[in-house]
Amino acid sequence: MTVRTRIAPSPTGDPHVGTAYIALFNLCFARQHGGEFILRIEDTDRVRSTAESEQMILDSLRWLGLEWNEGPDVGGPHGPYRQSERGDIYAEHARKLLDSGHAFKCYRTSEELDELRETRKAEGLHLALKPADLALPDNEAARREREGWPHVVRMQVPASGTCVVEDMLRGTIEVDWAQVDAQILLKSDGMPTYHLANVVDDHLMGITHVLRGEEWINSAPKHQLLYEYFGWPMPTLCHMPLLRNPDKSKLSKRKNPTSINYYRRMGFLPQAVTNYLGRMGWSMPDEREKFSLEEMIGHFDIQRVSLGGPVFDLQKLSWLNGLYIREDLDDAALLEALKDWAFNEDYVRQILPEVRPRVETLSDVMPLAGHFFAGVPALEASDFDGVKPERETLVKLLQFLVWRLEIVPSWHKDALLAEIKALAAHFELKMKDFLAPVFIAITGSASSTSVMDAMAILGSDMTRARLRHAIEVLGGVSKKQAKRFEKEYREL
Ligand code: GLU
Repeated sequence: MTVRTRIAPSPTGDPHVGTAYIALFNLCFARQHGGEFILRIEDTDRVRSTAESEQMILDSLRWLGLEWNEGPDVGGPHGPYRQSERGDIYAEHARKLLDSGHAFKCYRTSEELDELRETRKAEGLHLALKPADLALPDNEAARREREGWPHVVRMQVPASGTCVVEDMLRGTIEVDWAQVDAQILLKSDGMPTYHLANVVDDHLMGITHVLRGEEWINSAPKHQLLYEYFGWPMPTLCHMPLLRNPDKSKLSKRKNPTSINYYRRMGFLPQAVTNYLGRMGWSMPDEREKFSLEEMIGHFDIQRVSLGGPVFDLQKLSWLNGLYIREDLDDAALLEALKDWAFNEDYVRQILPEVRPRVETLSDVMPLAGHFFAGVPALEASDFDGVKPERETLVKLLQFLVWRLEIVPSWHKDALLAEIKALAAHFELKMKDFLAPVFIAITGSASSTSVMDAMAILGSDMTRARLRHAIEVLGGVSKKQAKRFEKEYREL
């Protein structure tokens, strides 16, 4: 048997370090067994999936040196590798389950579903809706079918008993069937849910081992049942521990930069990031901290993964990155790294129009444009003394901007300007007054190149990191404030 593993990201945002971490372990496991590692794009959420996000995922995994044998860009014998291009396959498999009685059409309206859940809640029952709860009287079901009401396809699930799932790291996991709902497999628009598409694809793509984040443990019973219904062997499951912030909460962009683009933009070396991800819950037999991907593959043993939540600590990563720069890069290699990072024609060209109108000698360029080649600027709270909004409004303004920028669908100047205009109106500030603190946060000074252009050029991750840094410098957001801010933000 050839070991085949996969990473199956959903292209719905920035390329997440968690994706790279799971990809790394899948890659190591496959390579250690002389197997293959596949990349599949799970883009069944047509509203949230974007081509831009998919491209960023591919670019960032490749930047980290995590190459795949098959995938949407390199092809392979089991394609297509994008779920949005496999609709017929899922429809056919849903049909099979309907024919065998393992799935059923459900004509319940969302109001009825809410009502069913409310009743169960009032009765103190588990909220999982079972086939029996969802059933309509025969004539009503027939009427709705005849009249062509929208419907979903759901899977049958046992009403009671215990489901036993085996996990490579966790051993036997037991889940009460009573907690497992009659999962939707096909949505009313005919698109599959994650569960159906994931199981069908893992089988058809010959996946033998599924290493994924522990947030998917609850899906395992449903998946196991689907394998049984189809009569397919089930891949071996392994649920990896989630990455955590230093305070042990789940790694989230609210507390830590989670986008690989951020680390790249900050000037981390890919080999250091990959090495650090390899330290997340895993260690080399001799416990050394610094090792290459090849060394990790050479010594890989999944049983060395420890389940205590691995902490993704920026300081530790910076320390490791420093080791790589000092120990591994000679001058020629360091020059290459700098070129890859920012000292290249593509990047410098973007900056020229910003500096040309503002300099008299070439030596004026660096002081003016230095922030394009920097991380977060050295700021003090007093740098903001001259701006119009008072402290609390100022922090709120910057925080709202971070939140708005987190969801701007495509990063270009017009879109950014639209966000800023909307927020300036909300704060009843003239554009000039709104932009003044943003200017300081982004460029680190009160006079520099255009802040809007700077944000566009610096990109989403660096821009947000600088805004977040300014918020911290200004004293941060207390828990109480955060609650107030969130409420007001929601009403925007
Ligand atoms: N599309 C899922 C994700 O975004 C894949 C989960 C799995 O590996 O089964 O993480």
